[in-house]
Amino acid sequence: MPLDRVPGHSNALLHHGGGRWGRSCIPGLLALAVLWLSACATTGPHVPSSEVEALEKVLRAKSARYLIAQNLRIQAVGARLLRAVPDADSGERAPYLGLLADEATDTLADAVGVAKRDGVLVLGVVPGGPAERAGIQAGDYLEKIGPQVITISQDLVARAELDVTGPMPVRVRRGEALVETPLELEYLPWNVEFKVAEDDAVNASSAPGTITITTGMLRFLRSDAELAVVVSHELAHITRRHDVGKLGLALPTVVVGIAAALIVPGSQRLVSTVVEKVIANVVRGALTKVDWDMEREADVFGLLYLHAAGYDPGVASDLWERFAVELPAARSFSFISDHPPSSERLIRLNKLVEALRSGVSPDAILAGNIDDVPLP
Ligand SMILES: [Zn+2]
Repeated sequence: MPLDRVPGHSNALLHHGGGRWGRSCIPGLLALAVLWLSACATTGPHVPSSEVEALEKVLRAKSARYLIAQNLRIQAVGARLLRAVPDADSGERAPYLGLLADEATDTLADAVGVAKRDGVLVLGVVPGGPAERAGIQAGDYLEKIGPQVITISQDLVARAELDVTGPMPVRVRRGEALVETPLELEYLPWNVEFKVAEDDAVNASSAPGTITITTGMLRFLRSDAELAVVVSHELAHITRRHDVGKLGLALPTVVVGIAAALIVPGSQRLVSTVVEKVIANVVRGALTKVDWDMEREADVFGLLYLHAAGYDPGVASDLWERFAVELPAARSFSFISDHPPSSERLIRLNKLVEALRSGVSPDAILAGNIDDVPLP
C-alpha cells in the first residue's frame, strides 16, 4: 500500500488555516508539526494491541529462559570449581541440589512451558548435578525434599540442615502426576549462591556466600573456560574470606542457596533482588578500597582452582589481556578498576601459568618457590 493511502495518514493539518496563525502561534504550529510528523511516521500494517501483548508475553518468557540458561551455566562451572577446592580452603560442608527453582509466576511458567500453579517451580537442573541424576526436570513443581515440605522458595534454605547419607526421597508434581524419586545429595566445600545481574557493565562481584555475574560480562565471555576464570577469581575472594571483617558490613547471613539464585523479570524475587543489588554495589564500592594484595591473592588461588578443576590456566592470561585491550575505558568504573593494573597482573599470571604448565606443584607456588613472582 502506498504511503499516502495508509488509513489514518492525512496531511490535512498542513493546509488548515496556516496563514492566519501569525508569529505568536509559531510554537503551537511547531507542536502541531511534530504531532503531524509523528503521525506520518506510523507506517506499514496496523498492529493490534492484542498482538503486541501476545508478543511481549513470548519475549518475557524467552528472556527468562535466557537468564535461566545463563544461571545454570554459571552454576555448572561453579560446581566444577568448587569440587576442586582443596580441603585446606574449605569452609563448610554445604548440601548441594544442583537445581534452580523459584516460586512460579506466569513468566517463569511460560519459560519452562508448563501451566502456572502455586508452588516452587524447577526452572532447570545443573548438568551433572544431583537433581539431574535423580531425574528431576525443568517444569516440575517441588513438593517435598526429604522431610522438608516445599511451598515457598525460602523452604529450600532449610535443606542446609539436611545432613543425610544415602538417597532421600524427593516428591515433585509433573503435570497432573506425582513423582517420587530418590536423590543423593552432593556436598560442596562452600555454600555459594550464583546470581545473574541484568547490567550491561562487564562486571563480577562477590560477597560472602554469593557470586554475581552481570549479563554484560556473560556477553563478553566467549567460553565456559573464560567464565571459569572469572568465577574462580571471585570464588577465591570467598575462600580467602576477603570481604568478611575487611568491609565491616552486616551482610545478610541468610543465604538462600544455590537453588533459588536468579534475577528474572516477572519473578516474585525481583523486589528482594533489588535490595541485593544495592548491597552488591556497596560491596563493590568498598572493594575498590580493598588492598590490591587481596586481588593478587585471589588471582593466585583462582588460578590454582582453575587448574585443579581441569581448565587450561592459559585461558586466564588470554582473558585478562582481552579485558585490557577491548575494555580500556572500563578500568575507571568496573570490574577492572577493582583490580591491580592489567599489565602487572598479566605478567604475574603468565609466570604462574608457565609454572603450572611446567609441573610446579600448587604447594610450591603458594610457598613462593617460583622465580620472580612475588606471592602473597
Ligand atoms: Zn577481585
